[in-house]
Amino acid sequence: MTEIPKAYEPGEVEQKWYCFWMEQGYFTPKIDRRKKPFVIIMPPPNVTGELHLGHALTATLEDIMIRWHRMKGEPALWLPGVDHAGIATQVVVEQKLADEGLDRHKLGREKFIERVWEWVNKSRQSITYQHQRLGASCDWTRERFTLDEEPSRAVRTAFVRLYNKGLIYQGERIINWCPRCQTAISDLEVQHKDITGNLYYLRYPLADSEGYVTVATTRPETYLGDTAVAVNPDDQRFKALVGKKVVLPVIGRVIPIIADSAVDPSFGTGAVKITPGHDPVDFEMSERQHLPVINILNPDGTMNEQAGPYAGLDRFVCRQKVLADFEKAGLLEKVETHHHSVGHCGRCQTMVEPEVSKQWFVKVAPLAEAAIKAVTGGQIAIVPERFTKVYLNWMENIRDWCISRQLWWGHRIPVWYCPKCDEMTVTVDKPSTCSHCGSKDIIQDPDVLDTWFSSALWPHSTLGWPENTEDLRYFYPTSVMETGYDILFFWVARMIMMGLEDTGDIPFHTVYLHGLIRDEKGEKMSKMRGNVLNPNNAIDEYGTDALRFAVTTGTSPGNDINLGPHRLEAGRNFANKMWNAARFVFHSLEANPIESGALAKLAAKRSKPIEDRWILSRLSRLILSVDELMSNFQFGEAERQIHDFFWGEFCDWYIEIAKIRLSRSDFSPLPVLAFTLDTTLRLLHPFMPFITEELWQNLKQRLPEDSLASASIIIAPYPVGNKKFIDAEAELVMESVIEIIRSIRNARAEHKVAAGKWIEACVYADKLQPAIALKSEAIETLAKARPLAVLSRHQRRAKEEKALVLVLKEAEVVLPWAGMVDVVAERRRLEEETSTVDKEISRLEQRLKDAAFVSKAPAAVVDKERDKLQGYKDKLLRLKQELAQLN
Ligand SMILES: [Zn+2]
Ligand SMILES: [Zn+2]
Repeated sequence: MTEIPKAYEPGEVEQKWYCFWMEQGYFTPKIDRRKKPFVIIMPPPNVTGELHLGHALTATLEDIMIRWHRMKGEPALWLPGVDHAGIATQVVVEQKLADEGLDRHKLGREKFIERVWEWVNKSRQSITYQHQRLGASCDWTRERFTLDEEPSRAVRTAFVRLYNKGLIYQGERIINWCPRCQTAISDLEVQHKDITGNLYYLRYPLADSEGYVTVATTRPETYLGDTAVAVNPDDQRFKALVGKKVVLPVIGRVIPIIADSAVDPSFGTGAVKITPGHDPVDFEMSERQHLPVINILNPDGTMNEQAGPYAGLDRFVCRQKVLADFEKAGLLEKVETHHHSVGHCGRCQTMVEPEVSKQWFVKVAPLAEAAIKAVTGGQIAIVPERFTKVYLNWMENIRDWCISRQLWWGHRIPVWYCPKCDEMTVTVDKPSTCSHCGSKDIIQDPDVLDTWFSSALWPHSTLGWPENTEDLRYFYPTSVMETGYDILFFWVARMIMMGLEDTGDIPFHTVYLHGLIRDEKGEKMSKMRGNVLNPNNAIDEYGTDALRFAVTTGTSPGNDINLGPHRLEAGRNFANKMWNAARFVFHSLEANPIESGALAKLAAKRSKPIEDRWILSRLSRLILSVDELMSNFQFGEAERQIHDFFWGEFCDWYIEIAKIRLSRSDFSPLPVLAFTLDTTLRLLHPFMPFITEELWQNLKQRLPEDSLASASIIIAPYPVGNKKFIDAEAELVMESVIEIIRSIRNARAEHKVAAGKWIEACVYADKLQPAIALKSEAIETLAKARPLAVLSRHQRRAKEEKALVLVLKEAEVVLPWAGMVDVVAERRRLEEETSTVDKEISRLEQRLKDAAFVSKAPAAVVDKERDKLQGYKDKLLRLKQELAQLN
C-alpha cells in the first residue's frame, strides 16, 4: 500500500497517470462493429504557437465527452490534429525573416518553405505537449497535420471533383487585397474598424459645356479608376445630365454620366463616382452597364501605370497629391468629417483594398442548399439551439467563396497551365504533360488554397477519404463537432457543405458551440489589455484539474465565461477538499479493513442507519441528474452538482456523522464511505481526470480485491443511477436533522457563544420525532448541544421558559437563555442595538418626508432608501421579540 501524502501535489500525479494511460493504450479505441462509436475530431489548433485559454476550454470539453463515453463502454475516438494555418503561419515566419533582414522573395519559394517547415516542426511538438498537460485523452496514433500526404490528397481530390462539376471556377471578382501580405483574403478574414475620416466632395467638369458634377468619396485617389458617374433615374436634379460626359481632372479620361436605380440619391450629392475595379457594388453595376474595369494599384499598394502622373506613389501619398491638385484647380468643393468602417487585414492589421482580381472561387449556393437541409431536417443539431437561426440566415445569403491565396505556405492549387495551347490541366496527381496538347512545358498555378479549404474537409480527410478506409466506414459520420461560436461560418458551415458534397453524408450529428473566455470583469482577454491568462502558468500554479474545473464548472453552451484567479482558486480548493476527505476514508479503511463483498451487499441491506439511506439516496439522484445533464450537453451544470454533492452533503454532513459512528463496532459506515467515494470519483473523472485517478487507485489498494475491478478509473464504468436507492423518508428526516444542527449553529454564532461551550437544547417535532431522536448524538456533537432532548410537540414545556425559539419546517428548537448567554449582558446588547436602529429609522423617515429629496433624487436612490427603512423596521421587530423572550 502506498502512503498517501498530506497535501495534493498536482505536477507529479499528472505526469505519472498521463504516461500510464498512454502506455496502456487507453486512448486508442478498438473497432467493434457491434458497438456504436463516439467520435470527436479535434478542431486543429493553428501551428502558430502557444495554446491559449480557448484551446484549454476546447480540449477540456472534448475530453469530458470522450472520457464519459469511454467509461460508458463505447469505442471513443478523439482524433487530434494541427492546422498549417496558411496566412497566419506565413506572416509569423516572414516576421522572423524580417528580424534577420531577409524577406521571402530574397529567399525564394523553396528555401522559404524549408524555413517554415523547420519552425512548424518545433511548434507542433509544443502543441502536443500542451495538450498532454491538459490531460487530453486523444488518440495520438491517429494524429493528423493538414499538410500530411493523406489530407493533402483529399484536398486535391475535392478540388478536382468540384472543378469537374463546374462548382469551382476562375473569375474576375472584387476581393480584399492585403498590400502587406500581398494576397487576397476572404471577407471573414477582414476586420472592420470604425474610424473618423473625411468625405471629400470632388468636382468633375462636364466635357462639352460649362459646369461640373460633384461626387463625394472617402478614397479620392480611386477617381483614377472611375469609369462612370451614376445618378438615380428618378432624381430630377440630374435628369438633364444623364447621357452627357465628364472629364477626369489631371488624367483627362472622359467618362459617361449614367442612370442606375442602385444609386442612393441621399448619399453625398446624389451623383456617385463608379470605380468598378475597387468597389464590389460598383463592380456589379459595371457588369450590368457594361462599363470598363480598371485596377489602379500594384500588389504592394503603390499606384500602377493606370494612375498616369501618380504612378509609383504609395496609395496614401497619392491621396494627398490628388487632393492638392484638385484644390489647386478649384475642384475640391468641400471636406466633411465622416465616420465609417474600414476593412483591415486580420493577420497584419494593414488597411485592405477592395480590388478586382483573377481568383479561384467555389460556387457555394448549390452546396449550401444541402447544408441547410441537413440542419432544418434535423440530421444535424446545433447546441445551443439559438445558433441555428444564425447559421441558416448566413447560409441563405452566402456568397461565392474565394479560395485562392497568393501565398507560398499551403496546398498548391492542382491546376497546370500550358503556354503552348493555353489550356488548363486539372488533376489530383502531378501531370507530366498537358492533357490537351501533350506538351511537356506546363506550369503549376503559383497560388495556394485558403487554409479553410482543407479545414472544411477535416472530419473526412482525417479518417482516410477519398480512400474507403476502415476508419472512414466505422467512425464517419462523427458524433460531435465542438468549437467556439466565433468560427461557425469560417469552419462549421463549410465542413457541413464539403462533408455532404464529398461523402454524401453529414460530417457530424451535433455541433456544440462554446462561449469565449473573458477576464474576471467580463472584458475580452488581449495582450494590449494585459489580462491574458496563460494556461501553462495556470497549470503550474493551480494544477490541471483546477484549470479544467475553472473553465467549465457552472458554464453553459454558447455563453461567455468570465475567468480569473477566483475560479482557479475554487478549483484548487475543491481538489484539496477531495484529497482531505479521501485521506480520512483511507486512514479509516487502514484501521478497520472492510470485508470482501461489503460494497456489493450495500443495496440489499434495508436496516441501515438513516444517514446511510440518505446519502445513497442523494447519490442516486445525483447520478440520474448528471446523466440527463450530460446527455443534453450541460456539462458545466453536471460538474457543479457533483461538486456541491461532494463538498456539501458528503464531506460536510455524511463524513462528519460517520466520524461519530466509527468509534463503534455496530454498523460501520465504512462500506458506504468507500462506495460513495468510489462513485463520486468516477462521476468526476471526466472533469478532473488526474486527482480522481490518483485517489481511486489509492482507494482500490485499500479495498478487498474484488471491489474495484478495473485497472484504471479511465475504463471503469460510469455510474448508473439506481432508483431503488431513492428514499424519500430518509431524505426528509436527514434534511430535518441538518436543519436543526444548522439553526443551532447559526443561533450560537449570532449570539456569540464561545465555540467550545456546550448549550442546552430541546427539539420538538411531530411525526419525525422518533427518527430525529435516533440522531440525537449527531445533533449533540455537531451543534455542541448538551443536554439535548428530542420530544414530541405535545410534551412542550410551559410557555414561560426564558428561551430562544427557532421555528423550522418539521421541528421547533428551544434554546434556554440561561447557560447560553449572560442574560444581563445580552439584554444590554439588544437594548443598545435597538436604540441605534431607532435612530436610523427616524433619520430615514425624515429624509423620505423631505419633498425636495423625493422629487429630485433618482428614483432608484429613493427606492433604495425606502428598502433600507423597511430593513431597519424588520430588524427592530426582531430585536423587540428577542428582548421579550429574554424578559
Ligand atoms: Zn496582411
Ligand atoms: Zn497544351
